[in-house]
Amino acid sequence: MSGPVSTEDATPVPETTPGIARPVLELAPARATRVGSLPVRRVLPQRLRRTVGSWCFADHAGPVSEARAGQLGIGPHPHMGLQTVTWLLDGELLHRDSLGSEQLIRPGQLNLMTAGRGVAHAEEDPGRSSRLHAVQLWVAQPETTRHGPAAFEHHAALPQADSDGVTVTVLVGEVGGAMSPARRDTDHVGAELALRPPGAVLPLQARHEHALIVLEGAVRVDGPEGEVVGPGVLAYLGEGRDECLLAVEEPARTLLLGGVPFPEPVFMWWNFVARRRHEVSGARRQWAEGDERFGTVRSSLVRIEAGHPPWE
Ligand code: MN
Repeated sequence: MSGPVSTEDATPVPETTPGIARPVLELAPARATRVGSLPVRRVLPQRLRRTVGSWCFADHAGPVSEARAGQLGIGPHPHMGLQTVTWLLDGELLHRDSLGSEQLIRPGQLNLMTAGRGVAHAEEDPGRSSRLHAVQLWVAQPETTRHGPAAFEHHAALPQADSDGVTVTVLVGEVGGAMSPARRDTDHVGAELALRPPGAVLPLQARHEHALIVLEGAVRVDGPEGEVVGPGVLAYLGEGRDECLLAVEEPARTLLLGGVPFPEPVFMWWNFVARRRHEVSGARRQWAEGDERFGTVRSSLVRIEAGHPPWE
């Protein structure tokens, strides 16, 4: 379920929208698309909101429960300039990359791959489960690391902060005093919130902008009179909040994404995050030519090729 942005999808975007320096609540629907055979809700980027902190991409897949075990994999494809964050709510996936990593991931675990100048990976369906419920996120790397080496880390368990009404599992960064050990190249945060009635007050960093992506159930944002948010929506919270009241009538799960607004314009096309068009053109050509920049993935799945960007 790890990428790629289809070429159909690949409107080049030269600018990010600056963050709004105050709390807001903007609801924007996800776009329905597919990654391979898997239908996904593409929650980020949005036309009018390209990034939340350094988070630049969010696909929510599933829950899928039909018997399609073994068919949910994504063949080898390249990345640059970003980190992939894979998070499962159900099912399992086998990650293989051109660094030689081979790692099974299950719910509650984190796979974090840093592309830097270039890496390739595949995500295989081990075929033991007919279910999948997953999130694939990308983090734009800052200028200081985006030309650097690729890396991969797996975290079998993550820190949790428990309080009345919510269990927070911290994927990246810090929430409520719980700090993830995962690599972080910018000041950003990502967490899964398991909410129980009647809900909870979530501590936030006012220097961050934030957004919620509800994965299961329904969440009222800003309290019992607030707007109801369900799956398939980016709920952008703006900057300047040091807490947010999340009310639920039934158990619900949501992602929290946040960070200092990304300071540089991001240019995204296909599986690449860059700053300028020519960087993407070069990377696309090198992938097509089998250049050693992206290495080789040991996978039985079919390699994924890019189309041509609209400016070529
Ligand atoms: Mn990928």
